[in-house]
Amino acid sequence: MFCVNCQKDVDPEIITGADIYGPKFRFASAPYARCPVCVNYGECAVNETPFLVIPDFRLRRAYNFIDSILNLIWMQQKMSKAEMLFRMADLMYNNKKPYRTRDIESYDEACRAYRLAKKLKKECFSKVEISA
Ligand SMILES: [Zn+2]
Repeated sequence: MFCVNCQKDVDPEIITGADIYGPKFRFASAPYARCPVCVNYGECAVNETPFLVIPDFRLRRAYNFIDSILNLIWMQQKMSKAEMLFRMADLMYNNKKPYRTRDIESYDEACRAYRLAKKLKKECFSKVEISA
């Protein structure tokens, strides 16, 4: 995995949510990947291709900002999650690779994703017809 803090590929340790946040954490048994050098950590993908990046603190916060917007889009059923991911892949990478927030490697890329997510949200929500 690419550790953003170390700016290099590292061989991550696999730990659990409980190791980071304690046994009362809601996702205590969820797997996390931790950099053995700087001990930053990132989520592991469950049941899909593993994530590629161990974010640093700033990038982890950026992920949360991006996902809070994207989640709003599909949770409010403006489009399906798959459709939303497809649109983000199109906007970010011209569909040359799939979009996953947790594969974003840099803060600049995260800022771009944040801007595009806001655009997408605006597009979705402006289609709503307001009735009295
Ligand atoms: Zn590291």
